[in-house]
Amino acid sequence: MRLGLEGKTVIITGGAGGIGKEAAKAFLREGAAVAVFARTKEKVDNFLREMHGQGFQKVYGEVLDVTDQEGVRCFLETVCQEFGTVDVWINNAGIAIDKPFLEYTENEWDTIMNTDLKAVWNCIRLVAPIMMKQERGVIINISSFASKIPSAGGAIYGAAKSGVSSLTRTLAAELAPYHIRVLGVVPGMIDTEISKANIEENGEQLVQNVSLGRLGTAEDLAGPIVFLASEQAEYMSGFDLEVTGGKFAVQNTRWAWKAKESLI
Ligand code: NDP
Repeated sequence: MRLGLEGKTVIITGGAGGIGKEAAKAFLREGAAVAVFARTKEKVDNFLREMHGQGFQKVYGEVLDVTDQEGVRCFLETVCQEFGTVDVWINNAGIAIDKPFLEYTENEWDTIMNTDLKAVWNCIRLVAPIMMKQERGVIINISSFASKIPSAGGAIYGAAKSGVSSLTRTLAAELAPYHIRVLGVVPGMIDTEISKANIEENGEQLVQNVSLGRLGTAEDLAGPIVFLASEQAEYMSGFDLEVTGGKFAVQNTRWAWKAKESLI
């Protein structure tokens, strides 16, 4: 299947690890140039070393905080100079802090909101004018299943991700006349750094409501993200694609697994 990503430039915020990194690898395999940034130097260095080691040359990385708007503006300028333009922007960087809602400090509210929601807004405001001028582009916002059914203990994260999903719909409409598609991806419970502590503590319980009966991997997200950015998805915009293994498709996912056991 032709994906039409060869020669395109893809930027992935927080793309040196987890879901972003697997998506980066998938885009590189399709012949796209990929630029990422993250806060941790070691992560960015390792990412670049690994990609160069696999023979990918059109790859760029920087140490940068997504909440540093001026830094992101310079990064975007550098990437456009290096690779010509930007065709796909993926808002992937995200953090989570879980605790009872009364225990959050205002500083924690600001940190989560600034990273998970405000930075998405700011990044789109930086990249949209370039895409509008070229009348072409795809913006993908990595939201969360928490935007649909939040978790107790994750009040601010859920609120931020609901905001991201709302932005996806509004901006898809506002950017449509410029042939820019805006899409969201809703991961379920994916085994990465952000969910490590939760999985260690509640692993068994977390798969109870997943129809496919297992946690997701970062690789599970890469294909759907690449597909949404591709020319095969040209009539798709303004919605969240769930990549959750059928999380809460029904209330009693275990029923089907038990039924299968009883037939064997
Ligand atoms: P990871 O923690 O592995 O990846 C998130 C990446 O974002 C990290 O590599 C981190 O790198 C980077 N990052 C975080 N904060 C910033 C910042 N301020 N500036 C720049 N980069 C930043 O988790 P995932 O890959 O799973 O997460 C990717 C996205 O998927 C997130 O938006 C997350 O909310 C979402 N998601 C994940 C789910 C899961 O179960 N894993 C479920 C639902 C949604 P560094 O720390 O070096 O900055």
